[in-house]
Amino acid sequence: MLLHPLLCVIPISALVFGEQVALKLPLSGDDRAAHAPKVAIVGAGIAGASAAYHLRDHYAHADLDLTIYQADPQVGGTIKFAKVYDGAYSSQQVETGAQSFYADDECVQSLIDEAGLRQKLEPHYPVQKSVGIWDGANFILRGEGDLKGRTWADWARYAWKYGFSVIHMRQWLSEKLPIFQRLVGRWEYATRNIPRDIEKLGLTAELKSNAWSFLQNLTSPDFSREIVQAVTRAWFGQNLATMHSLAALAASNPAATDSVMNGGNHNLIERLIKLSDVDLHLNSTVTKIQRSLIRKYRLTINTPSHDHDHAPSNSEEADYDAIIIAAPLQMANIEFGIDIDIATSFPRLYTSRHVTHFTSSSPLSPTYFNLATSSFIPSKIYTTTSANVAPPLFFSIEHSLASFGLDGCIAKSEDMYKVVTASPLLDTTILDLLGHNRDRELEDAGVRWVHREEWKHAFLEYQGGPMLDDIEIADGMFYTGVREEVVSSLEMSCRMGRRTADLLYHEQFARRLSHETDH
Ligand SMILES: Cc1cc2nc3c(=O)[nH]c(=O)nc-3n(C[C@H](O)[C@H](O)[C@H](O)COP(=O)(O)OP(=O)(O)OC[C@H]3O[C@@H](n4cnc5c(N)ncnc54)[C@H](O)[C@@H]3O)c2cc1C
Repeated sequence: MLLHPLLCVIPISALVFGEQVALKLPLSGDDRAAHAPKVAIVGAGIAGASAAYHLRDHYAHADLDLTIYQADPQVGGTIKFAKVYDGAYSSQQVETGAQSFYADDECVQSLIDEAGLRQKLEPHYPVQKSVGIWDGANFILRGEGDLKGRTWADWARYAWKYGFSVIHMRQWLSEKLPIFQRLVGRWEYATRNIPRDIEKLGLTAELKSNAWSFLQNLTSPDFSREIVQAVTRAWFGQNLATMHSLAALAASNPAATDSVMNGGNHNLIERLIKLSDVDLHLNSTVTKIQRSLIRKYRLTINTPSHDHDHAPSNSEEADYDAIIIAAPLQMANIEFGIDIDIATSFPRLYTSRHVTHFTSSSPLSPTYFNLATSSFIPSKIYTTTSANVAPPLFFSIEHSLASFGLDGCIAKSEDMYKVVTASPLLDTTILDLLGHNRDRELEDAGVRWVHREEWKHAFLEYQGGPMLDDIEIADGMFYTGVREEVVSSLEMSCRMGRRTADLLYHEQFARRLSHETDH
């Protein structure tokens, strides 16, 4: 079925997140609405939400007709939560995808303000601020704070242990981080080609080099492996050998502090989409994009059938003047009936990540970590890997508390662990971590709740330099995923949403709309 531009609109006011939405009959025959430029946004993660909000807020005068198609039954994309104990004895939630926002990032922070959610923001840190680095055999370090070298005392300690070459690392950070900040600043580098922006700024060496090789010219191998790599494994689930140096630079930023949103990070996305006044279609997967004679592009959209489980999905078509693809193409499965500039760059290599939360009535076992039984275990465990010992089974473990009410009146809490791994975390590994025999059932070992989330295309691996460049991948079609060439983060996606929105408006509609106003 072809949806004529005016025939079928789903109003945001009719929407309840996660539930089915109702159709509304045609708008009036208002000419203005008929001529309003139609923009489709594919994906309702932070990039899609940021693009929609920016188009509506910044270009309100253009009165754009905005639609978001979102494959999942909810918005958020990599921002996703789970209810602790599946909501049975607690209203607590945990983030199973993107955990925290950089507190000093202009793009996300301004959206938080504009969404009126500032009061919900709180610092992110585990219950006790202790940290350790585990290499699969031993703790290389156990102490307070984190590994980012936030004070002169931290750097003095690093220099004591790893030699003065770590000073070169500090110099690199203080020289290059402000430049990186300019790249991600508001207007300065809002062009269509990110690698070219990076070149202009003098960060090409970082973008094109493998982080492990790059750091060998800067600092000692032990410092790179034990400290820098522990940080990049926690941030990007990657060893230095599989990432570029720009991402290592961003991960090592000692000035960065992170914050989380009380009640769930998804609140930000929901609020932005509501404020954007878009027609949001949940459970709607864009499967094909081709040329249209009515407007520029025709989208094919699949929605699940509600008749019965095995019925084929429904397919619809709709025409748009411009498109923002705010879904990573490696997972979007979109068939293109036109040439796009980046088709030849796929497939790419991605690391997958498994995020497992579990609660336990007993703490982690020191014996698992080859420690004496009375030893303390840090609340945040980073990991690293060396050629001498088997790599740890996990990238990081974070301890917090799960609270629950018994009989609705007595508040109690037990330990909760978040474990990030490259492959699924087995029940036997959970039993090992808690010091129980492998033949026990998890429940008998005091594990009341386990939640597993898999992210198949979590982070792009280094493949010798950027392969994507221009944000506009076909005339009037813009792609936010070019950001993954630089750094995969909420901040970059936020910025790409904004940047694609700006380019889209200026290059597709600004002249036409000012011409119409003149007449
Ligand atoms: C486990 C994990 C932890 C992370 N932690 C952090 C962190 O703490 N801080 C940080 O800054 N960054 C973090 N990141 C990175 C960050 O989450 C991502 O860079 C960012 O959220 C990507 O947002 P996005 O909107 O670009 O894409 P996504 O969040 O992937 O959203 C894309 C959306 O498009 C939808 N979609 C896909 N295909 C289609 C289609 N064909 N039709 C319609 N809809 C479609 C998807 O369902 C999805 O909702 C983490 C990433 C992972 C995987």
